[in-house]
Amino acid sequence: MRHRIAAVGGGPAGLTFARVLHRHGHSVTVLERDPSPDARPPGGTLDLHEGMGQRAMDKAGLLAEFRALARPEGQAMRILAPDGTVLRDWQADPDDKAHPEIDRGQLRDLLLDSLDVQWGRGVAEVVPGGGDGVLVRFEDGRQETFDLLVGADGAWSRVRPALSSATPHYTGVILIETSLDDVDTRHPDLARLVGDGSMAAYGVNRAVVAQRNSGGHVKVYAQFRAPLDWHTDPDRHLGLNRHADPNPGVDLADAEAVRSSLLALFDGWAAPLLDLLRHGAVFAHRPLHVLPVPHTWTHVPGVTLLGDAAHLMPPLGAGANLAMLEGAELAESVAAASGPDELDKAVRAFEEQMWVRAGKWAKITTAGLERLVSPDPAEALALFDELQPS
Ligand SMILES: Cc1cc2nc3c(=O)[nH]c(=O)nc-3n(C[C@H](O)[C@H](O)[C@H](O)COP(=O)(O)OP(=O)(O)OC[C@H]3O[C@@H](n4cnc5c(N)ncnc54)[C@H](O)[C@@H]3O)c2cc1C
Repeated sequence: MRHRIAAVGGGPAGLTFARVLHRHGHSVTVLERDPSPDARPPGGTLDLHEGMGQRAMDKAGLLAEFRALARPEGQAMRILAPDGTVLRDWQADPDDKAHPEIDRGQLRDLLLDSLDVQWGRGVAEVVPGGGDGVLVRFEDGRQETFDLLVGADGAWSRVRPALSSATPHYTGVILIETSLDDVDTRHPDLARLVGDGSMAAYGVNRAVVAQRNSGGHVKVYAQFRAPLDWHTDPDRHLGLNRHADPNPGVDLADAEAVRSSLLALFDGWAAPLLDLLRHGAVFAHRPLHVLPVPHTWTHVPGVTLLGDAAHLMPPLGAGANLAMLEGAELAESVAAASGPDELDKAVRAFEEQMWVRAGKWAKITTAGLERLVSPDPAEALALFDELQPS
């Protein structure tokens, strides 16, 4: 029997789910709010772990395509002290398949191929329990029903309220993202500093992290502990000594104002580290939020969640991997279910397995964030030392 199935959200979770289901011969619709695939920049680089994201790509029939684009050299990691001293410099073996990097846009394009994605279809609300299935109300006022609706719509999911009253809470860490283009020709010194993979410098309650993407593009992340509204009075909230009272707030859309606050916050750090912030053109403000751990719910027939919608956690290399593995596993279970009862049993069993695994990762990444953006920068170094294979 054919079920009417939709995934809300065309991120790693929703696309992997749809792709694997499609590969098993089932039709599935992806409902995505963005008006087109290129409506906004796709984001930075993702490392896909051998037993997680890569396993999902295998189930999607895309492992060879992934390997052709992935960057094993991107696994290199260099750690600096704020004064620029190199503390660790781990190089990556070109044959190391543990967790090579791929640009998020490249991954999305691989998964998108052959899928029925309906762009510009933002979901406003989901109402389970109706006789004809799960009712979906769209932001444009239209509505539709499905037998199974998979909420893969990320941190601020509109599907989640149908299952759970949990909402993301702020971790206390702000992440500000900027980027540099053509680093090898325009900023060769910074290209060498970042190397082939990632570079990070940790100070007291703050860090600068840079990651090489393909095509000479480098993403730079400034991270610091601060109240969510730090920008309303940056000098007070960040402990800066720049202005006489009263302090003007920072308009987060004003790149020069954000840059000036960041340069003051990282004042005294080595010049090349500050140059990573000086040369960025646009600064995106991304306060880090998480869902409670564990996040579970009473099963509701016809609706479930995947990825960040189910278990938003700090960005420490697990979120997209879990999202993709869950998408692939749920798709396989759904494909094997022949009638409505079996479908419901499959979803229920999937949820229980997801809660256990995601709960474990949420604890690891939450503890990791505490150590990476910490009053004692030695904690960050110790964490990386523990993570290196012996
Ligand atoms: C800076 C940073 C670096 C990271 N690095 C890594 C890494 O290296 N490795 C890793 O595993 N993870 C990483 N993560 C985490 C990873 O990005 C997420 O866990 C992952 O993107 C989750 O995938 P998802 O499909 O669940 O959600 P998302 O990627 O958030 O996708 C959700 C999709 O749903 C759409 N959507 C939202 N609301 C609606 C709606 N109402 N209706 C329709 N569509 C909607 C959105 O437009 C989006 O396309 C990082 C995160 C950050 C912030």
